[in-house]
Amino acid sequence: MSPSRVLLTGANGFVGSHILSQLLNANFSVRAVVRSQSKADSVRGDFSSPSLDFAIVPDITAPGAFDEALKSTPPFDAVIHTASPFLYRAVSNNHEFLDPAIKGTTEILQGIQRVAATSVKRVVITSSFAAIGAFGLYDDANKVYTSADWAPTTLEAALTTTDLGLVYLTSKKFAEKAAWDFLATEKPAFDLVVLNPPMVYGPLRHTVSQIGQLNESNTRIYDLFVAPANTPETPMPPNGVPLYVDVRDLAHAHLRALQVPEASNTRFLLTAGQVSSQQIADIVRAEVPELESRTPKGTPGANGLPETAYTADSSPAQKVLGIAFRPMRETFSELASQLVGIEKAQGQ
Ligand code: NDP
Repeated sequence: MSPSRVLLTGANGFVGSHILSQLLNANFSVRAVVRSQSKADSVRGDFSSPSLDFAIVPDITAPGAFDEALKSTPPFDAVIHTASPFLYRAVSNNHEFLDPAIKGTTEILQGIQRVAATSVKRVVITSSFAAIGAFGLYDDANKVYTSADWAPTTLEAALTTTDLGLVYLTSKKFAEKAAWDFLATEKPAFDLVVLNPPMVYGPLRHTVSQIGQLNESNTRIYDLFVAPANTPETPMPPNGVPLYVDVRDLAHAHLRALQVPEASNTRFLLTAGQVSSQQIADIVRAEVPELESRTPKGTPGANGLPETAYTADSSPAQKVLGIAFRPMRETFSELASQLVGIEKAQGQ
């Protein structure tokens, strides 16, 4: 039977608010977990649905953090856990990335065991390509990643490095690993579905009134392709992680992950495919008239990626979850238009 009562963590985030939107549209009853009353108020401002209620969990690493949130009448059928630190500007040391990611994951799973073990049948966790890719730690030229791959990052390196990027990557690997380890050792009644998206881009579902409040991945798009500091002559920025997924397709995958029995105990690499800076720039310049005089021009029409750039196989997600990825034109034109709107509204 398909679940109807769902606990969603990270509900005020970029990805979380799209998942919340799609859950409510599909008639789920949702308890959104956020860190403060003011965050609950802003989610409520975006979603007036009577099928939405809230739990405040100020510290997801505290023992028993989710126990109260997980108590519900009617009880929860499923849990979606997206909360995890990704904003570099909000993190000042390695533990602030690692602890909420890893302990937050074990806390919610232990909480389910303690207070919702008889009702929760499935847990869906938002992991990342960070838990899969090499990110320069080995040569992945020409590689086609699959969900069988695991990142070579180590906790030892993440605890001592000054590279916060490496710490974020590691936080996602070990958070996901903690979930699979929990399943193996505790043998809970629920099963697990893990989604591993690379860069997630696309329009915002939640209210963001200042560019400075954007989430990490869309901040990248703003800084490199939209911000007034750019001109058509600005050198084309590096490609970064050249794989992406639209946030709406990722949110849809979370819903399907709740519903599809065959997804049980599977991790799904979820990408629409490769994207280069040149492709993003071409779309933004063609689709958003204000940006033609700003966005780096480069060599329009060129692919922009080295021939050896790695790619990834998302066919299991397409087959099992039934996900169809939308064209990249929609993702980047809608996002860039919205970013221009936010910029204008804040009076920049
Ligand atoms: P956002 O920053 O928009 O949302 C992150 C969510 O996690 C927010 O609800 C945030 O709450 C919560 N969170 C962050 N830090 C903590 C913490 N220390 N304790 C409790 N809650 C916390 O990011 P996204 O929506 O982009 O990310 C959502 C998920 O998707 C994350 O798990 C991320 O790793 C994953 N992901 C995102 C990608 C992307 O490109 N955007 C790529 C791959 C995976 P608060 O507002 O209170 O900080």
